[in-house]
Amino acid sequence: MASPPSSYRGRLAPSPTGHLHLGHARTFWIAAQRAAAAGGTLLLRNDDLDRARCRPEFVAAMLEDLRWLGLRWSEGPDCGGPHAPYHQSERTALYRAALARLHAAGLIFPCTRSRRDVLEAAGAPHEDGGGGDDEPVYPRDFRPPAETPLPPLGGKISVNWRLRVPDGETIAFRDGHYGEQQAVAGRDFGDFVVWRKDDTPSYQLACVVDDAAMGVTEVVRGADLIKSTFRQLLLYRALGAPVPAFYHCPLVTDAGGVRLAKRHDALSLRTLRAQGKTPAELLAQFAETAAP
Ligand code: GLU
Repeated sequence: MASPPSSYRGRLAPSPTGHLHLGHARTFWIAAQRAAAAGGTLLLRNDDLDRARCRPEFVAAMLEDLRWLGLRWSEGPDCGGPHAPYHQSERTALYRAALARLHAAGLIFPCTRSRRDVLEAAGAPHEDGGGGDDEPVYPRDFRPPAETPLPPLGGKISVNWRLRVPDGETIAFRDGHYGEQQAVAGRDFGDFVVWRKDDTPSYQLACVVDDAAMGVTEVVRGADLIKSTFRQLLLYRALGAPVPAFYHCPLVTDAGGVRLAKRHDALSLRTLRAQGKTPAELLAQFAETAAP
């Protein structure tokens, strides 16, 4: 008798902001392995929200690189599926509906402070690498009092909207790789942006809306996003969406112990492939290069 289909749904969510490197490959490979081990479905989502940095040639390149590595998915921008479109840039209406829910529930507020204001008030260094997880804790006195009436969202948004985090609440989850994780809202992370003043959703909001809408049951991604997971847990709660399991993968470092970034072109899959490396050799290398 055939076994019932597994309800596991995993995803690969690359951003086309550069060429994929060994670190991405390792994370995506683990995601694919976990989906296969569970007999589940793997989907690919093109996280192309960052208009300034995403380029169409990187979309084609990332799909090609992942296929070359041997990964296969059954839903995605190239093959369609029940949750199309699989390009985040084409899913704005869904994100906007979620924003309207957060607004109606009074959970967000408009913020006209600049990034520099926030960095200075938080005493954070300016050169923080720009990654989503390096966001300094939003100063409490920048936040309007809870009873302040909210202005309407309006048509085109030209201020940042932030989620008001529940100060002092411990947010916890059990990570499939790292075990119990905890952070205190308002101390370890602060009110974070859900919609940007350039009228685009933030990564945090788009990711939660999509993972929920696409029925993802386990999110596998790099350990650099653990702090984002705490923020995203607040969004799942605010939107009344079921919370997936999380599995964060150790990051790959270069020979000097520095975490790989897209600027490490020497370790991009393209370069390694051009040098004659095979997928099997790369997979073997993963075990040697992951930080604990
Ligand atoms: N698109 C994100 C990135 O490439 C990953 C998002 C996620 O896995 O949640 O960094």
